[in-house]
Amino acid sequence: MKIAIIGGGISGFVASLKLNGDITIYESNSEPLKKLTVTGNGRCNFLNDDMNLDHYHSNSDVRDYIKDDIKDTVLNFMDELEIAYKIKNGYYYPLSNKATTIKNALVYEANKKNVDIRLNEKVFKIEKKDNVFIINGKDKYDKVIVSSGLGSYPQIGASTDGIKFAKELNHDIVTILPSLVPLETDKYDWDGIRSDCKISIFVNGERIHTEEGEIQLTSYGISGICVFNISRYASIALNKKDDVYVCINFVPSISNIYTYLNNTNNTINIVLKRMINDKLANVILGNIDILRNKTFRELTEDEKVILINELTNFKLYVTGTMNYNQSQVTRGGVDLSNINTSFESNKVPGLYFIGEVLDVDGDCGGYNIAFAIYSALIASRGINND
Ligand SMILES: Cc1cc2nc3c(=O)[nH]c(=O)nc-3n(C[C@H](O)[C@H](O)[C@H](O)COP(=O)(O)OP(=O)(O)OC[C@H]3O[C@@H](n4cnc5c(N)ncnc54)[C@H](O)[C@@H]3O)c2cc1C
Repeated sequence: MKIAIIGGGISGFVASLKLNGDITIYESNSEPLKKLTVTGNGRCNFLNDDMNLDHYHSNSDVRDYIKDDIKDTVLNFMDELEIAYKIKNGYYYPLSNKATTIKNALVYEANKKNVDIRLNEKVFKIEKKDNVFIINGKDKYDKVIVSSGLGSYPQIGASTDGIKFAKELNHDIVTILPSLVPLETDKYDWDGIRSDCKISIFVNGERIHTEEGEIQLTSYGISGICVFNISRYASIALNKKDDVYVCINFVPSISNIYTYLNNTNNTINIVLKRMINDKLANVILGNIDILRNKTFRELTEDEKVILINELTNFKLYVTGTMNYNQSQVTRGGVDLSNINTSFESNKVPGLYFIGEVLDVDGDCGGYNIAFAIYSALIASRGINND
């Protein structure tokens, strides 16, 4: 059996190692697995200790496609590849701390298996005639796997060609939007500050999601893992022209802020600078200037509420997301309702979609690479058992 794999990223390479038959990978870049090498700051966070499927998002029910054994399935694959790994704060990385360890292992094994890896070979057309797939008008295959990812990080060759192929072959598409991306908000003089926080996103006044973690305050808005994990909701809402804001609690570890402040003796100006980053304290003091030289106990009850709100419910309007150049994953993709649980198209038998090109996006923390690996393994199993 001749099988073409469109895209030499993580999902495409994993599939190539597992499939029986005559395998060709088409990769438009001059080197394979380019995106993998920039993941996890060059360390490749490929899995998470907490693989609860709530960390995956789609217009369809992901539980029909991803099973609870995803963690064991990915770890078994890493064991087979003899990749030593470690877990740091629940995130899995190769023990070498280098994404290139995984890249090199995949390329080595694919070469050993005589996979035909065609670099600098961009696919522009997939057709099916008389039960035969034709790639770029010339090469013929029995089956095709589209593993071409989506548009995040176009600066290293990412493309949305998979959407084009799927549309040309009559598949439905869930709107693609940048996700795991910094947000543009109201601007303050706080570039470079990092703070612990609890952050909630509100769409048309309704709280949609809350995350906790370290926020990075920037010249254009906000960033950090907790922001990435709410960004998909912002992307979707802004695309619909909904009203989007976030509320930030800058002191999440103080359980009763009223009691805490009531026990302080210094002026608000001094108390805040001993409680949070002093530059952030200046921003908050700028919003409540007339209170700065009073102690908490000298404030009226209304003034106390205003101060506590600034610290625990800091409201920022979200005006946009940064673009695909800064987004780690693309929300949306090929509609899962067109795909069976072996990741084969219901519309074009013999055509498979795996990895990010599908309408599945995971939270930050290894979920997207885990899905790329998992979907490749499941699709390969399906093809081999044909
Ligand atoms: C900066 C950054 C950091 C990230 N960090 C993490 C992380 O730590 N953990 C995690 O889980 N996820 C992370 N991700 C997300 C993760 O990298 C992707 O979800 C994952 O790589 C998707 O795998 P894939 O195989 O579907 O697609 P890709 O890895 O994107 O591979 C697709 C391949 O197809 C090729 N291609 C595209 N179009 C064509 C065409 N027409 N013809 C031929 N080839 C084509 C591309 O060049 C590419 O090599 C990160 C992403 C970015 C951008």
